[in-house]
Amino acid sequence: MRVINFDVEHGSSHIIRTPNDQIVIIDAGSTESFSPAIYLKDTWGITNIRWFTLTHHDADHLTDINNVAEHLRVQTLHSPEIEIDELNLVYDEFSTPLEVFLEYKKNFTIPAPPMSDPNYDWGGVQFATFGNKINDFENPNINDLSVVTFASYMGWNVIFPGDLETPGWSKLLEVDEFRDRLGKVDIFIASHHGRESGFCEDVFTYCTPQIVILSDKSNSESTYAENYRNATKGLNVTNSSGVVNKRYVLTTRSDGAISLYIDPQGRCFINTSL
Ligand SMILES: [Zn+2]
Repeated sequence: MRVINFDVEHGSSHIIRTPNDQIVIIDAGSTESFSPAIYLKDTWGITNIRWFTLTHHDADHLTDINNVAEHLRVQTLHSPEIEIDELNLVYDEFSTPLEVFLEYKKNFTIPAPPMSDPNYDWGGVQFATFGNKINDFENPNINDLSVVTFASYMGWNVIFPGDLETPGWSKLLEVDEFRDRLGKVDIFIASHHGRESGFCEDVFTYCTPQIVILSDKSNSESTYAENYRNATKGLNVTNSSGVVNKRYVLTTRSDGAISLYIDPQGRCFINTSL
């Protein structure tokens, strides 16, 4: 299983390539000069996408949506279960990428079972997804409705929690299966770009990851990297010059794109290059 965390500055874009070559996209962030969708097409020669999960509807997770729509063929789309009138409650106005997404979403009319359905063949990868509902909250915040994905392969567990903030984490921590899966996480993609609002201390009473990955930008507000550092065991990472160091927190800001590879023997290799 390969996982690429693209450097999309303040945004989010992750690719999972399963051992049987199924491609899963989590979020569609981009920068002015880099489109993950075009990278997939031109560098990997891939246009067929088995699954696209949009964690939530904020623009920094959707800036690449035009390229996704134009260059990729997505088989299944999963996004939070929110109706348009509910989106109107959480946004004063819709961003352009969100408008594009809402049009794009109309192409997906056939409901699909969740990724965890045993009828999918993910080549040995197991997926599980969780999410809060808008009426779980008195004052709903779109970030707390993020779809959370767990990906497990050969004993390694990765969490992609979108932009969950503390109320959203707390609500999900009420779910037994969520806590169980959290307790097994080795590779923790920090929610909400590593910001303070995404750091929920209770999460780390259940989970001690080996490494944390933040997707953020140089001038974004200060991250909680130090808090994550204290909750993390550390793992060997190979940098772009081939030097191996034990690392605790990786950031797209400092490390660029971050690539994980878990081989069929269960060995995990992490590189800070594509
Ligand atoms: Zn975000």
